[in-house]
Amino acid sequence: MKKIITVVGARPQFIKAATLSRQFQVQGIDEKIIHTGQHFDANMSDVFFQEMEIPKPAYQLDIHGVSHGAMTGRMLEGIEHILQIEKPEGVMVFGDTNSTLAGALAAAKLHIPVIHVEAGLRSFNMRMPEEINRILTDRISNVLFCPTDTAVENLKREGYDTMPIQIIKNGDVMQDAAMYYAQKAQLKSDIIRKIGVNKFVLATIHRQENTDNPDNLKQIIDGLTEINKHVQVVVPLHPRTRNILAQNYRLPDFTIIDPVGYFDMIMLLKNCDMVITDSGGVQKEAFFFGKHCITLREQTEWVELVNNDYNRLVGSDKNLLAEAFSYFKSKTSDFSLDLYGKGKAAEKAVEVIAKL
Ligand code: UDP
Repeated sequence: MKKIITVVGARPQFIKAATLSRQFQVQGIDEKIIHTGQHFDANMSDVFFQEMEIPKPAYQLDIHGVSHGAMTGRMLEGIEHILQIEKPEGVMVFGDTNSTLAGALAAAKLHIPVIHVEAGLRSFNMRMPEEINRILTDRISNVLFCPTDTAVENLKREGYDTMPIQIIKNGDVMQDAAMYYAQKAQLKSDIIRKIGVNKFVLATIHRQENTDNPDNLKQIIDGLTEINKHVQVVVPLHPRTRNILAQNYRLPDFTIIDPVGYFDMIMLLKNCDMVITDSGGVQKEAFFFGKHCITLREQTEWVELVNNDYNRLVGSDKNLLAEAFSYFKSKTSDFSLDLYGKGKAAEKAVEVIAKL
């Protein structure tokens, strides 16, 4: 039986991995998971394994709370050691975190094929750690699963179509997850009753360019505070942002809750009026659940959302945020466009992996 090692470490990777793990089981491929430990809190990690029924990691590296270099280096060493023991036929990595790069690099140096899920995305902002991670990971991957046409075009522009690798547009595994778990979330989640409002804007903030830049963070807080005067703003707050807020600011008036599990997040997305976020994944999930999204960044990898007027980029400018809020408040859109493959991405990917 073919053996694949999957490397995960951060919240969005658990969600992506869940869809692939299920397909590996369906298609009879032996998968072992390495959890690097990048995200480790119960509500940033365990809850996703439980709710989404992701197989328990075979290896836990428990690496977190250190600088980017130290983290990536320790992960590289830990993963290399496991790969030498396990000798898998492929190593699968997701997205753009330090865990992604460490997994890809460890495998490539051992001549084990690297499978990159969510390949080809670019923000063209080399100050983002994610952009560095994804470019380097793509370059040493053997199978590049692209979620969108834009991702495929980005790779072609960089000359990848002349290399002995496979570039496959399979769609977005996050849409698979959203579609598969929506019904379970409806049955299991109690979050709407708990927050006690049925008219609200859902916001998330955690990108380093916002949390680590006091001017940006202050503008965002001011912008959300202003919107909160019109409609309640609910923020499941990432631990990084919570720590910075607690140290530097008076806690704002809008509703801050702890990070929620995926089922609760789905229900928040389904029931909110609009989404405001600097997350990559949440921009798409807004679209999956038929909501407009204001993105607190200067660029996005998900350009098709902006081009189709579902999403507006406002950076951290509170005036642009207010403008986008009033624009989307009165706008209705048709969200049925097929931009991300409609829930078949993992199935397509595993069919290709089975034939490697
Ligand atoms: N998410 C969640 N609970 C939260 C906030 C986010 O389950 O409190 C989910 C969200 O629905 C999406 C993923 O986490 O599927 C996005 O992760 P994040 O925003 O941390 O990372 P990014 O997508 O920006 O890499």
